[in-house]
Amino acid sequence: MNRFFSFSFALLLLISCTACVGRAAAPVGEDPPVTEPQGVAAAQPAEPETSDEPEAVEPEPEEPYVRVIDPAKPMVALTFDDGPHETWSDAILDVLEENHALATFFEVGRNVRAYPEPVRRMAELGCEVASHSNAHKDLSKLKKKALLKDLDTADAAFTDAGVEAPTLVRPPYGAVNKTVKSATGRSMITWTVDTEDWKSRDTQTIVDYVKSIDNLDGEIVLMHSIYESTAEAVKILVPWLQEQGYQLVTVTELLAYYYGELPQPDSFYGYTYFSTHGRTDTPVPLPGEDVPGEGVHAEETPEDAAGEAEAALSEGSEAASEDPAENEDGEWKPVRVTETSVGLSPVGVPSAPMALYP
Ligand SMILES: [Zn+2]
Repeated sequence: MNRFFSFSFALLLLISCTACVGRAAAPVGEDPPVTEPQGVAAAQPAEPETSDEPEAVEPEPEEPYVRVIDPAKPMVALTFDDGPHETWSDAILDVLEENHALATFFEVGRNVRAYPEPVRRMAELGCEVASHSNAHKDLSKLKKKALLKDLDTADAAFTDAGVEAPTLVRPPYGAVNKTVKSATGRSMITWTVDTEDWKSRDTQTIVDYVKSIDNLDGEIVLMHSIYESTAEAVKILVPWLQEQGYQLVTVTELLAYYYGELPQPDSFYGYTYFSTHGRTDTPVPLPGEDVPGEGVHAEETPEDAAGEAEAALSEGSEAASEDPAENEDGEWKPVRVTETSVGLSPVGVPSAPMALYP
């Protein structure tokens, strides 16, 4: 009896101790109470950081950039022909956007079919989208009917891409005749400073040339958006020009603010025009603008423009691949011709007739 009692007691003790161990073991092995304090302790130092973080990194509300051009101050119009290019157009646009600068792009209609995206971006940024014909032919050699057909075909490429049909046209090679100058319903415009970027294809040469010109006020600088060397030159020239005090404006802005007139239909702005006109005393406002230089509010949002243009995408790609004049790279290559150019620089650039490729 006594032994039985002892045994029972021992058994009871053993059971309760096992339960005890079991109970104590449970939280250690599986439970949050033990690990949680560690977790909390570990998290604690981080906590103040995370709670401070929103205040620390919250960006200052950015003032929207308001572009105001002072018609009394120096201005220059950078112009880019022969695009859009699938790579270099955007590289140039990146630089313009970063620097709040605008330029004018004279685009080839069939390239617009192939690469409509950069054209939409140009318009969204406020750059001027202009025409450089549809197929980059010498327009002075076309009959009037063919000439108008070419320009209309280009216009359709622009509208299908979601931008307005340009009224401003730069004739390829600067080649014009009476019909091209005054019977297309468009404003024909050449340039005043030729960087010959197509010829050197060298960034430093392009940069050095532009920097060598004493006064660029009122000038229209010709470049091409289809070369890496030009895109690289733009990275240097845009901030440099601004540091020199030049406002980078579109061609239409330059005509309105510097020359004092809006581009007129059936009119030609070439060498004679630029060599006989200077800075006006009476800048004119752009359409929709009350005061010259104050800017016009866009009526259409970028989203609208992109949406409207979406349908044109697939069509554009097909048309491009059928283009017989493209080279193997699918890239529009300039055809060099020997023409006496009408667009010569009034700022001391050699003015002898030369093979030009605009
Ligand atoms: Zn061209």
